[in-house]
Amino acid sequence: MRVVLLCDMEGSSCVTQWDQVNSDAAQYAEGRRLYTQDVNAAVRGAKRAGAKEIIVVDGHGAGGAWSFNSLVKDMLEPGAEYVFGHRWGCYVEPLKAGCDAMLMIATHAMAGTSDGILCHTISSQSWHEAFINGRPIGESALAAGVAGAFDVPLVLVSGDEAACREARAIIGPQVAAAPVKRGTMRYTARCLAPADSAALIENTVCQTLTNPHSWPKPLVFEAPMELRVEMSSPDKTRDFIGKPGVEITGPRTVVSRGENFWRVWDQFWHQ
Ligand SMILES: [Zn+2]
Repeated sequence: MRVVLLCDMEGSSCVTQWDQVNSDAAQYAEGRRLYTQDVNAAVRGAKRAGAKEIIVVDGHGAGGAWSFNSLVKDMLEPGAEYVFGHRWGCYVEPLKAGCDAMLMIATHAMAGTSDGILCHTISSQSWHEAFINGRPIGESALAAGVAGAFDVPLVLVSGDEAACREARAIIGPQVAAAPVKRGTMRYTARCLAPADSAALIENTVCQTLTNPHSWPKPLVFEAPMELRVEMSSPDKTRDFIGKPGVEITGPRTVVSRGENFWRVWDQFWHQ
């Protein structure tokens, strides 16, 4: 079994503040440890389930050279490989090669979620909100859509309760959830102790991966697919000018369309 763990930082145990996830802030060192502990627990769960190839992608843009590079290297659980430096949603090599399942670790909810701790979609500064085929979506739908384009299901989400609920609402109740905290507002939460989160994550990952019959189907949106992003302000559309397949349809609206969600995302985000 080959699995990919797409990891972010905002959904880590006991993380509730931007200062814990931004590289220039004093609490970043603490956030890195908490993040690494959650990811390690997921790796242990995957190993216990017999996964032979475990690929962990650090997907958190912490700022500067710390972007997509926040995991604490000398704490990392052995038995997996770790991918650093790729922007969120860019590293698809294992999906292309053939992969059994994707898991999202330390996930946060979409922008505008009232109980979503540190909620945002892709960028808290540049993106206001995003839609696929007219439906509001967050990062779990984007990741599941990319994986689905390669026939890979998103089978588990860890993070706050809002992130778990969001993934299940879009993909289906078969998505396994390991909620490590419950937001009361964007920066306030009731959290499990990290050791309890780790046990929850490890056990949920192990159970999920040993029961492939319980997995949801790969997420495939109805074609033609449309990703629409409302940027936070008109200047933010500038990066998208001239991109093939991408249109600027309003003062701060960017639209990408296609028949395959990987193409829709790739032409919008990478090329
Ligand atoms: Zn992040």
